[in-house]
Formats: sequence, C-alpha cells, structure tokens
Amino acid sequence: MKYFILFGPPGAGKGTQATSMVEKYSLRHISTGELLRKEIAEGTELGLKAKSLIDAGALVPDEIVEGMIESVFNTEKDVAGFLLDGFPRTTAQAEALDMILAKSGDEVTSVVSIMIPDEMIKERIRHRAAIEGRADDANDTTIENRIRTYHDKTEPLVEYYKGKGKYNEIDGTGTIEDVRTKIFTLMDKF
Ligand code: ATP
Ligand code: MG
Repeated sequence: MKYFILFGPPGAGKGTQATSMVEKYSLRHISTGELLRKEIAEGTELGLKAKSLIDAGALVPDEIVEGMIESVFNTEKDVAGFLLDGFPRTTAQAEALDMILAKSGDEVTSVVSIMIPDEMIKERIRHRAAIEGRADDANDTTIENRIRTYHDKTEPLVEYYKGKGKYNEIDGTGTIEDVRTKIFTLMDKF
C-alpha cells in the first residue's frame, strides 16, 4: 500500500491537485479539512468542537485528526494507496502516522510539497472565499493566524521528512496545469 502526503501551506492548491492525483494513481483521497467540514455541516459533537478552532485559524487537537485518518485506513482496503491532504500538520501527527503505518509494516511512501510564498497564500484564499464560501477564508485575522500556525507548527515537518529522505518540493506558483505536470513527473517515480 502506498501512502503519499500532499504537503504545503493553506491555499497552495492541495485540494485542486489532489483530484487529478487520485484519479491518475488510483488513490483514496483523505482531506482532514474536508472531513472536519463535513462533521461541522452535519452538526456532530466533533464538528461543534472543531468549528470554533477552525474559524479562529487554529488547529484541531491531534487526537481528533489521527483518529479520523486511522478509521479511513481501516475501512478502505480496496485501493492502491492513499493521498493524505492536510495531514500530518504537526510533528506529533507525523509521529502518530508513522506508528499507525508501522502496525501493518507500512511507511510513508513520499511527501509531495507544493510551495507558494505567503503573499500568494493571502491572494489565493481571498479569491477562493468568493467561490467556496468557507468561513475560515473570509476573515483576514483568521487567514493571518492560519499562515502563522503553518509556519510554527507545520513547517517543521519539512525537516522531519527531509531527514527520512522522503521530501519532494514542487513550485506551486504556476498555473494549475503547470503544477499538475510537475507533480505527475515526480509521482511517476514511485
Ligand atoms: P488547502 O487550501 O491547501 O486545502 P487549508 O489549510 O486552507 O489548505 P484545510 O486543509 O481544508 O484547509 O483545513 C482547514 C482547517 O481544518 C485548518 O485550518 C485546521 O483548523 C483544520 N485541520 C485540517 N487538518 C488538520 C490537521 N491535520 N490537524 C489539525 N487541524 C486540522
Ligand atoms: Mg484543502
């Protein structure tokens, strides 16, 4: 089983690229952000807990997303692999993922990191706010907090995966098609 991690700051285009990646490589897409938004939409207890954190631009507790990921792994056996989008986002989550995979003798196959500068993050999220109507895209303070959270809590994972020889970076500033072509060239190697 292959386990790809789609990494990058908010607004880097992970969700957009994930769609064509899962299709081409027969992967199951797991977006923790989407799973959380579904919980919120359904008004579950978990969703209620997550909403205030997400709207503030903070992360939800590690245990919550770790549990979500593991339950998808356990229920979806009929795939070539998984594409993790928006997970892991902290060192603790990365370590938890390694432990979960080790139970079945598996490990992370590769990290595909889409990089864009902070200024472009803001531009893209403001543009998306008008299209997708996400509450956490509509507020400048929330966007600033998400960028800060990314640099403080998530960016250290670059070194974590470089240390394991699994880190691959793609320039995310081009068009959707440009970025897709670069990702496919990289993914073809695995
Ligand atoms: P992108 O624009 O690339 O899809 P994003 O950061 O804008 O990325 P999501 O990945 O959809 O959006 O995440 C939305 C919110 O959900 C995050 O700001 C965070 O509060 C919460 N969240 C998602 N994944 C995690 C995670 N692995 N750990 C903790 N919180 C998470
Ligand atoms: Mg997303």
